[in-house]
Amino acid sequence: MYANAGKTIETGQQCMEHSEFDVTTGKNSMAWCEKTEVETRWSAEGISHKQLPWKLSQTTVKKAECKMYDYLIVGAGLYGAVFARQMTDAGKRVLVIDKRSHIGGNVYTETIEGIHVHKYGAHIFHTNNKQVWDYVNRFAQFNHFINSPIAKYHGEVYSLPFNMYTFNRMWGVTTPEEARSKILAQQLEAGIRDPKNLEEQAISLVGTDVYQKLIKGYTEKQWGRDCRDLPPFIIKRLPVRLTYDNNYFNAAYQGIPVGGYTRMVRNMLEGIEVRLDTDYLHDRAGWNAAAKRVVFTGAIDAYFDCSLGALEYRSVRFETQVLDMPNFQGNAAVNYTDRETPWTRIIEHKWFEFGLDEHGQELPKTVISREFSSEWKPGDEPYYPVNDEKNSRLYEQYRQLALQETRVLFGGRLGEYKYYDMDAVIDAAMKSTAAQNGQAV
Ligand code: FAD
Repeated sequence: MYANAGKTIETGQQCMEHSEFDVTTGKNSMAWCEKTEVETRWSAEGISHKQLPWKLSQTTVKKAECKMYDYLIVGAGLYGAVFARQMTDAGKRVLVIDKRSHIGGNVYTETIEGIHVHKYGAHIFHTNNKQVWDYVNRFAQFNHFINSPIAKYHGEVYSLPFNMYTFNRMWGVTTPEEARSKILAQQLEAGIRDPKNLEEQAISLVGTDVYQKLIKGYTEKQWGRDCRDLPPFIIKRLPVRLTYDNNYFNAAYQGIPVGGYTRMVRNMLEGIEVRLDTDYLHDRAGWNAAAKRVVFTGAIDAYFDCSLGALEYRSVRFETQVLDMPNFQGNAAVNYTDRETPWTRIIEHKWFEFGLDEHGQELPKTVISREFSSEWKPGDEPYYPVNDEKNSRLYEQYRQLALQETRVLFGGRLGEYKYYDMDAVIDAAMKSTAAQNGQAV
């Protein structure tokens, strides 16, 4: 059996309802279709969804009369999945396509040795938005993981974010007053009134020791430049906690979905038609003919064939390794803050789930990912938008073009060229669907 646009079709049964659009080729013009073979495989990792082939008649019908879907959603990441869920629940016919071979977009987790590996970088769900928290809890149970990263500097270990544990390790101080005096003394000694670069800015905020050991090397690796050559505005503020508190995000709600993010997104997409390995831009006319509206969560500049130039990103490269040992570093995230170590941090994925599998059993092996900052060039995976003046101006020009695409809605981190945390992207998709459904936002 196969669910298509809200209808369930038995193998061999003819579908008279939705004519015009060939789901395999993306071309229109069919009066009826007969499903001859459908292969749908929901793997432990996500959905692999392949359909072969649909037999078509050659009768052409008028396009406007028979759009198969109300919404074609380009991208099975969080924005696309939430949008698809909300509109399906509102009774709309929805198709989701993604050019990758898996759902979840950048929150995708792949299971290796029983460990949910965060393939596109470590993702920790945290939010103060109760509505979003209740929403995600419909699709996943969250564990009580609290992000408490540590920093390594030439073998010395420090707590992050900067707090009393950090200052105790740095200077041996034990009270907030002692820590405050130490930082103040270093700020005064540096005597920086008007910071001219990132180094001066950081020292003026937290003093010399914290800058030298915990900020300088890490930032230079991230940006591939000396801190004295970086503008001061990159660091607007550096939170200093004069409490013994390692909880990095300090959000009202925090955790990791049990079973991984892929399972959570798969639950969001339950009962919704999804096609993977399908690039909208390879046949946009065909796909447009299939739906009344398009939700595009890919890169906005790519949508316009980069006609005004390419938007820039900061990129990250991951080297993932399976190790034949139960515990490599004893923490999910370890930042390497010296300049000499080439990677910026190592993630040991099993610690997001306390080193246990879903049955509470200890896992004999471990999986680690070393993260390297890398220069982005067109064709690379886009990670972080560069919100400098040049790129913001270019994005604004693309946004103006997007406003003229009245049938297309641009959303998500790539569609809006914006760094979104997961909770914010879910919130944005929920607001957008509410607006589509004429509800107050
Ligand atoms: P994506 O997940 O990128 O989904 C877009 C999808 O569209 C992709 O699957 C892509 O393949 C598809 N697509 C693009 N173009 C096409 C096309 N032409 N045709 C078909 N499909 C297409 N947030 C947190 O809250 N906590 C964290 O700890 C956290 N860590 C992060 C770490 C890193 C390294 C990064 C980069 C981000 C992190 N985030 C974190 C943010 C989080 O990843 C985003 O909020 C979220 O992934 C955005 O979802 P999205 O749907 O907008 O985009």
